[in-house]
Amino acid sequence: MWTDDKLVLASGNQGKLREFSKLFSGFGTDVIPQSDLHVESPEETGLSFVENALLKARHASAVTQLAALADDSGLVIPALDYAPGLYSARFAGSNASDQENLNLLLDLMKDLTGENRRGHYICALALVRHATDPDPIVVIGRWYGHIIDSPRGEDGFGYDPIFLPDGLQQTAAELDPESKNQRSHRGLAVIELRSLLS
Ligand code: IMP
Repeated sequence: MWTDDKLVLASGNQGKLREFSKLFSGFGTDVIPQSDLHVESPEETGLSFVENALLKARHASAVTQLAALADDSGLVIPALDYAPGLYSARFAGSNASDQENLNLLLDLMKDLTGENRRGHYICALALVRHATDPDPIVVIGRWYGHIIDSPRGEDGFGYDPIFLPDGLQQTAAELDPESKNQRSHRGLAVIELRSLLS
C-alpha cells in the first residue's frame, strides 16, 4: 500500500500532472511537478524506455529527497528496426513538430505493406521511494496497431493521426480522450500501477 504524502513527478507536462494527480489522490498523495521544485531534466542516456523512466525518477528523487514518479513513452515500428523509439519526440530533428515527425515516418514507410506496417506505443512508468531504491515499481503499457498511409483525426498528439489501433476503425486521433485513455499504452500502465500500489 502506498502511503507517502508527497511525490515529485519527473515531467512538466500538464496533462500528465492531471492524470497522475488523479491516480494518487486516492492514496492521499500530493503530486508536485519537478519544475516547481527547480529540478532540471537530466540527459536521457538510457537504451530503453524503462531505463530512461528510472533515470528520470532517480534524478528527481535525488534532487528533492522525495519519492518520485517518471514516465517515458514513444512509438516503435519493428520493420524499421524499432524506430522512432526513444527518439519519437525528435525523430525529424531536435525542434521538429509532431507534423514533421509524422511526415518523416510516413516517408520511411511508403514502400512497406501488411505486417511491416505494424507498430506499437510503449509507456514505461517508474516509481522510486528514494533515489537509490533497489526495488522500484516499474510498469510497462503497450498499445498495438498499424500505421496507415495518410493522417486522420484532430485529437491526440504525436503520431496519433496515423496510428490505427487493433480492433478499431478509428485512428487514435479520432478517439475521444476518454476512449483513448481507457486503452492506450499510458492508460494501461496507469491501471497496472494503481493495482500494484493498492
Ligand atoms: P514523452 O514520453 O511524453 O516525451 O513522449 C515521447 C514522444 O512519443 C511524443 O512526443 C510522441 O511523439 C510519442 N508519443 C508518446 N505517447 C504518444 C501518444 O499517446 N500518442 C502519440 N504520440 C505519442
